[in-house]
Amino acid sequence: MPGGGWDLDEIRRRADLVELISPHVRLRKAGRRLTGLCPFHQERTPSFSVDPETGLWYCFGCKAGGDVFRFVEMTEKLSFQDAVELLARRLGIQPRTPVAASQALAKERLIALHDRAARFFNATLKGRAGSAVRDYLKDRGVSEGSVETFLLGYAPDQWDALLNAMDKHGFSGKELGRAGLAIQRDDGGFYDRFRNRLIFPIRDATGRVIAFGGRALADDQQPKYLNSPETALFQKGQTLWAFDLARRAMSDKGRAIVVEGYMDAIACHDAGLAETVATMGTALTPRHVDLLRRRTDRLVLAFDSDSAGLAAALRSSELFRQVEVEVRVATVPEGMDPDNVIRTKGAEAFGELVEAAVPMLEWELSRALAHGQGGREGMTALRDAVAILARVPPGVEREYYIGWLANATASGSPARSRTTEAAIRDELARHVTRRGQRVRRTEGASPPPDTRTGPGAGKSPGSRLTASVLAALLHHGELAGQFVPMLERTDFPTAEQQAVFDAIAALVGRSERVSVEAVLAEVEAEATALLAQLSLDDVAQEQVEFHLRGGVRRIAEARLERRQRLLTQRLREANSGDEQSAIRAELAEVSAQRRELVEQMRG
Ligand SMILES: [Zn+2]
Repeated sequence: MPGGGWDLDEIRRRADLVELISPHVRLRKAGRRLTGLCPFHQERTPSFSVDPETGLWYCFGCKAGGDVFRFVEMTEKLSFQDAVELLARRLGIQPRTPVAASQALAKERLIALHDRAARFFNATLKGRAGSAVRDYLKDRGVSEGSVETFLLGYAPDQWDALLNAMDKHGFSGKELGRAGLAIQRDDGGFYDRFRNRLIFPIRDATGRVIAFGGRALADDQQPKYLNSPETALFQKGQTLWAFDLARRAMSDKGRAIVVEGYMDAIACHDAGLAETVATMGTALTPRHVDLLRRRTDRLVLAFDSDSAGLAAALRSSELFRQVEVEVRVATVPEGMDPDNVIRTKGAEAFGELVEAAVPMLEWELSRALAHGQGGREGMTALRDAVAILARVPPGVEREYYIGWLANATASGSPARSRTTEAAIRDELARHVTRRGQRVRRTEGASPPPDTRTGPGAGKSPGSRLTASVLAALLHHGELAGQFVPMLERTDFPTAEQQAVFDAIAALVGRSERVSVEAVLAEVEAEATALLAQLSLDDVAQEQVEFHLRGGVRRIAEARLERRQRLLTQRLREANSGDEQSAIRAELAEVSAQRRELVEQMRG
């Protein structure tokens, strides 16, 4: 295998060329590139050039050049293979091992099990035991075509129907337990998780079944909807139901309709709106948005008007703005959901609702205004609306809605519209000042961040490294408890990164689950742009722990090195012997911490 079992691309991607070169060459920015005096030949004017974008370097003087591996080969005088291993070790990247291979195999088996189980549930629905459920589906207007398209199923009212069926295919109770399809009893045995439920297979983007949702069929059954727990295959916040079926239609129609429930999505697909996906009752997460925006940048939310999902989506409006996705909200009549609307008023009526969807901001403003008209109530309503508008950065959009809001409140009188507009601008200005004060206060609370990490820290490799560590912590919150204690807020070079780190640390401190949504609820508006960016960073599922291990180590090491340098400098400038020995003691402490860090990271 080239590279002897190492993923060279990954090492190349993760290794920071600029950071690697910096100890050898004093680099200066020259446009998109960095230049300096070549370390491989004698020269007085810089002809050594580094391109951080591509990760390549080249000397116009001696014509040496290459990637990270070539640089390490030449400076450390190593063979290619040794250079690869050195870099991999520094980055904490592991070779492709038999362990990794066996994990991949386990995943395949999990998928095979889900596939079998889905077919079992589907066959049961179509069999004798499923006749009552078929009637129920017919009553709710679900076509036979939809039963097939969505591979709907029935989990019979038994403790071991699935267990027995899967046993015939060689899947053990333990395996079903790991897949979340069976639950372990105190005596060690297993029983079916899904009993007497209508089954909605949950598929990934490529159409493989990765989990199940089950709707209760008896009135007294709790909960009404039951999902598979999160597994190696299934993360609710990263999965949209029916996405595999909606992908093509989304591209064709240039939009995605997002609903909350399985039945909503089925009704929409039946009504010819194949671009519909469902969030399965959770909030629309940044990962969901990322999935969707690869297909289309126009989303229409068709949620129950009083749903928690809609409220959550409104809170995420800043995220949508950052990733330049246009989100519209369809006004679903109160107390109804898309399924109800389609079944009672017809597909056409629902289609009109979707067509009439308004931009999220407009929807929010209208709702605020609807809470009061005229007099004192009207004032409060307008003030609420301005508070919503204050979140929009100055620009075309905000200007448009200042006019819109003035018109909407002045009910057609141009004179009143002008005075209202002036009032709106005044009120808006007050919001902006309040916001500004808050920003200044936060900055004053901690030392100016950039001076802590040296020149150019804002855009330095360090900030990319710290950003990637934050992204990994966000996407793999289960690892946060392990790594957060090794980090300090001042390890992060910008106020935004510090804010995100603080939020993660606060969640860890309260033993709460770390997720993008949870952090979003913690941070100030100023940090949401960064959060949006981080949440869209792809962090490979595999090896994320190694990645974190390497990243955290480099960050903590850099901090200790800085402290060491600072102390060494103070030692040189120290006047008295007492002062010197105090500094020496501190230096010894820092060295001990560095050794400890290396030990910790090994474990
Ligand atoms: Zn050279």
